[in-house]
Amino acid sequence: MADTKKIIVIGGGIAGLSAGIYALKAGYEAEIYEKNTIPGGECIGWNRKGYHIDNCIHWLTGTLKGTELYDVWKTVGALTDDTEYAKIDSFYTSTYKGQKATLWNDLERTQRELIALSPEDEEEIRKFIQHVEWSKQCLFPAGKPMEMWGIKDYIGMGKSMADFPKVMKEFGKISLEEYSKRFKSPLLQKLMCDYLPKSYCAYSFLVSYATMAMGNGGIPMGASLQMSLRMEKKFKDMGGKIFYGKGVSRIVLDRKVATGIELEDGTTVSADYIIPTVDTHLLFGKMLPDTYMPKELKEAYKNPKAYPATSGFQVAFAVPVDFNEGETIFIDIDPVEVGSSRFDRMYVKSYGYDNIFIKDGQAGHPDMHHAERQRLRVLEEPQQGRIRCSEREALS
Ligand SMILES: Cc1cc2nc3c(=O)[nH]c(=O)nc-3n(C[C@H](O)[C@H](O)[C@H](O)COP(=O)(O)OP(=O)(O)OC[C@H]3O[C@@H](n4cnc5c(N)ncnc54)[C@H](O)[C@@H]3O)c2cc1C
Repeated sequence: MADTKKIIVIGGGIAGLSAGIYALKAGYEAEIYEKNTIPGGECIGWNRKGYHIDNCIHWLTGTLKGTELYDVWKTVGALTDDTEYAKIDSFYTSTYKGQKATLWNDLERTQRELIALSPEDEEEIRKFIQHVEWSKQCLFPAGKPMEMWGIKDYIGMGKSMADFPKVMKEFGKISLEEYSKRFKSPLLQKLMCDYLPKSYCAYSFLVSYATMAMGNGGIPMGASLQMSLRMEKKFKDMGGKIFYGKGVSRIVLDRKVATGIELEDGTTVSADYIIPTVDTHLLFGKMLPDTYMPKELKEAYKNPKAYPATSGFQVAFAVPVDFNEGETIFIDIDPVEVGSSRFDRMYVKSYGYDNIFIKDGQAGHPDMHHAERQRLRVLEEPQQGRIRCSEREALS
């Protein structure tokens, strides 16, 4: 159609593919320009020596049917009603001095076991579990953009989250490190601090655990890359065009209006609207003059202490042992110095929950029951949070 408006999306990660699909749904023509040769961005995996190594999904918020985010994942083709999820029954386990404590998806079991481990912390443990239960009400609102919300939407959200203010009152202003000191047991102190950086607000950890406990943080079978490929297929099936190996060098402006993009090979492509989904460091200063950076973001860049940009690293090993499938265990390590930070904990995660990680894809083969079955185990430094607690739930 001659009057169909065209949108160019820069980047073919989860945000770019989603933007492309929603653009098509809204009646636009959509083209995605991606510098890599495959879709997915950070949500990706790769093959090495016959093993598939996963980079991303430890938990995907919005896997619970009936939530607004679930409908979004369905709309963009990431999930279907038939998607299977890894059968993992715990969030993680912390170990310390020969003892271990697990946060099970079953909150009653967690409560029972933690009280048995540390009876002197009973009151605090019960309070923790009660607040995790209330945190289940904190669901990411994805029915429509918040910019379009009216008074009714806010009232509706208030009603559905009636108990959540109690969580914010108790845990909204206290860091995880401070919170952990309410427990007498050193193991429980570790348990509270292991998953997120200690400086995060405690409530974000409770919401994370609640998400897992209510089955809203599953891992779709088939690993991260497969989810990205499903979204790419959906985009293409709807008529979208995606160009790989096409790095964008800048957004072309005509008197402050974006009119197209210039590719790294010098060619230009015009469009009515441009949606950049690359990271902000690249967007402002390189693709657009840095004067376009929003004030809030400028403040965040100026204040790295309040907005730390930290990272993690991952090492994958194939091991000939049976290890509880999907289990994540935090352990003590000899301290590692990275820049001005010191780390003394890391986690080991078993990737045996999905046959895609088993060598040669011999799923269901009788040999699979033998001890030689090769499984992937991944050692990771604790997620040091590329994002601050207030943003964590939105992203994960
Ligand atoms: C190790 C790891 C574990 C994670 N675990 C989880 C998890 O368990 N749960 C969860 O929800 N999230 C998790 N995340 C976060 C999640 O993966 C990201 O938030 C999400 O994938 C980001 O998607 P995006 O599209 O916004 O950005 P990106 O994935 O960064 O996509 C940006 C795209 O832009 C492309 N690009 C860059 N420059 C250009 C250019 N000049 N021209 C054209 N294209 C360009 C990039 O190649 C990329 O494909 C994890 C991330 C990592 C790295």
